[in-house]
Amino acid sequence: MTAINHAITGSIIGLTISNPFIAVPLAFISHYFLDLIPHYGTKQDNDKFIKSKYFKTFLCVDILLCIILAIVLFIIKPTSYLIVILCAFIATSPDLVNLKKFILINQNKNYKPGLLYRMSAFIQWFEKPIGLIVEIAWFLASGFILVELLLK
Ligand SMILES: [Zn+2]
Repeated sequence: MTAINHAITGSIIGLTISNPFIAVPLAFISHYFLDLIPHYGTKQDNDKFIKSKYFKTFLCVDILLCIILAIVLFIIKPTSYLIVILCAFIATSPDLVNLKKFILINQNKNYKPGLLYRMSAFIQWFEKPIGLIVEIAWFLASGFILVELLLK
């Protein structure tokens, strides 16, 4: 799923579970649960797509939304900020395995998928453009829950 959806889910975990020893591992596991749900994407190994302006713009918007989320969390929940932002980061972090691929392909270098990458590709069994509907639905539903939690 998109980074923002992982980050919102992680924030909800951080806001609802006060014990960090439960919240942090749960945030990590949440990543793979979300990736099991059919979501947005295209063919994982399409090098041309990874180099495209469209993909880079999509990535920038996704990262920008995460930065906005981090700022909003800091402003509204400064006292529990550390655990909430940690959970948001941990929930998003498994996607960092894609960073190496992104950099190498954009340098026109060969990318050999490692075990972690192959595992995450296996879990994401359904990654198609139509999955954008699921992403938007998740964004709205989890965003609504997050706002409720932040305002109480
Ligand atoms: Zn992922």
